[in-house]
Amino acid sequence: MSTFLKKMELQGFKSFAQKTDFEFPKRVVGIVGPNGSGKSNVIDALRWVLGEREAKQLRGDTLGNLIFAGTPKRAAVGFAKVTLYFDNREKLFPIDAPEVMFSRKIDRSGNSQFFLQDAEIRLKDLLPILARARLGARGLTMIGQGQSDLFVRSTPDERRLMIEEILGLREFRLKKNQAERQLASSEVNMEKVSAMLEEIAPHLKFLRKQKTRFEKRAEIEKDLHSFENAYFAHHFHALNEDVAKLNVPFNEAERARAEKEKEVLEYENDLKSVNRAEVDIEHSKKLREALTHLFARRGELEKILARAEAKLEFSSSASTPAEKTSVEMKSILESLEKEIRMMEDWHELDKIKNALRDIAGRISKFFSSAPKADTSELENEIAKFKKELFGLEEEIAKVRKDEEALVAEQQNANKEFRAKVEALEAKKNELRKLDQAVQQYKFDRERLRMRMEELEREWMTLGREKSELTTIAEVRDIVEFGDLERKMMRLRGELAAIGEIDETLVKEANETETRYEFLNKELEDLKKAVADLNALIKELDHKIHADFKSAFSAISEEFNNYFQLMFGGGKAKMKLKMPDVKIQDIIPNASEESAPAEVEEEKEEKKEKYSELSAGVEIEINIPRKKIGSLEMLSGGEKSLVSLAALFALISVSPPPFLVLDEIDAPLDEENARRFSDLVKEFSKKTQFIIVTHNRATMESADILYGVTMGDDGVSKTLSLKLDTAA
Ligand code: ATP
Repeated sequence: MSTFLKKMELQGFKSFAQKTDFEFPKRVVGIVGPNGSGKSNVIDALRWVLGEREAKQLRGDTLGNLIFAGTPKRAAVGFAKVTLYFDNREKLFPIDAPEVMFSRKIDRSGNSQFFLQDAEIRLKDLLPILARARLGARGLTMIGQGQSDLFVRSTPDERRLMIEEILGLREFRLKKNQAERQLASSEVNMEKVSAMLEEIAPHLKFLRKQKTRFEKRAEIEKDLHSFENAYFAHHFHALNEDVAKLNVPFNEAERARAEKEKEVLEYENDLKSVNRAEVDIEHSKKLREALTHLFARRGELEKILARAEAKLEFSSSASTPAEKTSVEMKSILESLEKEIRMMEDWHELDKIKNALRDIAGRISKFFSSAPKADTSELENEIAKFKKELFGLEEEIAKVRKDEEALVAEQQNANKEFRAKVEALEAKKNELRKLDQAVQQYKFDRERLRMRMEELEREWMTLGREKSELTTIAEVRDIVEFGDLERKMMRLRGELAAIGEIDETLVKEANETETRYEFLNKELEDLKKAVADLNALIKELDHKIHADFKSAFSAISEEFNNYFQLMFGGGKAKMKLKMPDVKIQDIIPNASEESAPAEVEEEKEEKKEKYSELSAGVEIEINIPRKKIGSLEMLSGGEKSLVSLAALFALISVSPPPFLVLDEIDAPLDEENARRFSDLVKEFSKKTQFIIVTHNRATMESADILYGVTMGDDGVSKTLSLKLDTAA
């Protein structure tokens, strides 16, 4: 018959300094040996690897004491390791392998590790796997030294747990405990999350409002932006068109003006060419000078002639002063008249005065007497003077004629000059008009340029790039133009009403929204988890309750049977000790009075189930011929017998895969030891036994005996003998 626990390896564990193997090929293995040889250390090893956490339960002060401490003859080791090998062909462990290996290791630093199939595993995860196979470090499946009366000694609640373990319900208890822990933490988390949500909610409301405002603002800004684009593009293109339109006549005017300028220049040059005033003035001056010169000479000659004629006349007439008076007087007077007439043309006053003085001299001379003389030479001279005078008269007449010709010529030239000046003035007038036109165009162009600048400035005050203005296409039919301006005004007003928005608030709104959603989702998840856990707990309660209930009466009955067997009669039973359960324990926040009537029935049912679920197990016994008031009154052996009866009752109803019993036969008398031995043999069909014993009867029930000895080096050693063959 195969065994469940196949092998155990110890290394450095307590007195097992070196690696020691225990093979368990048979259903009942006895471990024997002298006191202090290390038998119980084997059981401690089993308990340890199955998850025992308390050093005390392993008979040590600290878990570090589990490592071989060294002896005078043998050095200490650095770690302790124990490995168990189980047959898993019947899938007692939920692991897909025919053999399952658990180990535990501890080193001097106190670092303790569990391994499943050589992979490290947390104890928390290991315990449910062990519970599934009804293995535990404590309880009735692992009765340690001096614990033969364990069942009697235990409290009702502890007994209940022992029974549950044997029934394989510990797995569900563990699950339930875990679920309850999770439930509690989920509920705490739920409260926390709800509190956080409540805390966030008002602020989030505020932030959402800000975000809505921000979005509204963005929308308005977008509309405004497109309206502005339309508005500015329109003006920009219109201005450009105006400039282009203006350029045509402007260029034309510039061209005409340049031409006119050329014409004016030509006229001016032409005018310069007809201007002969200087030449004429020079000419006229020369003529005048020549004339003056001629006049002077004529005057001189006339004077000389007059004097000569007078002299001639005086010489030719030898007369008395009386005679002289009438003839000469006539001649002198005639010559004087001639001279005076000539003086009419004279301009110089001095000259006139001199001439007059000369005349006065001659008159006085006349009145004094003079002798008669020869006159021929004088007449010749006079003829010569007259001839020269005639020549002068001719020359004067010629110069006069020249002068007249020059004046006529000057008059003609002046007339032509005036005509040209007039023509030039007319051209200049035209040029002025063209100048004005060009100026006007320039002015218009400047006006357009200024308007463009103004437009660009406005555009830039909107925070736009100057270059952007040239690139936006003209939107023709977006909206009526006046309407556009009105709309822009309105949108700007709306923006002003909304006011500036702190963008960090929007960012915060998004973050808070995400957090709110996250928390909400978490709350949902937690609610679901709580519901699932409640359902799981309900299911587990139901399972524990149902399995326990269905096994409990059978156990109690068997307890009675084994009791009677051990005590040779009497009566024994197990019964549930109902705790005083309050409705609040089942339904939190409920009170006895306030619970609604319709759930009353369900409540009672729950209460009953709840009380049964947490009910402890009490023992009632009647020993033949004795009156037992309480279990405390029993002797040590009797307590062990009652405990054994309970153990066998339990394993008869639900046999565990294996049991470890450390000297629980010690307090038994020979008869009971034999009974125990028989029972072990009988139950070994269903359960594997590992028994530490000094008892011969028990040893006889074993298929294999391991002898544990300790040499003088303080190290435990083993030797095994198979009894069926060794006998
Ligand atoms: P009994 O039959 O009297 O119950 P036993 O065979 O069960 O005895 P154990 O209690 O298993 O004996 O072994 C005790 C022995 O183990 C003691 O000698 C003790 O010194 C030794 N021991 C315990 N812990 C260590 C350790 N950490 N290092 C070395 N030896 C240890």
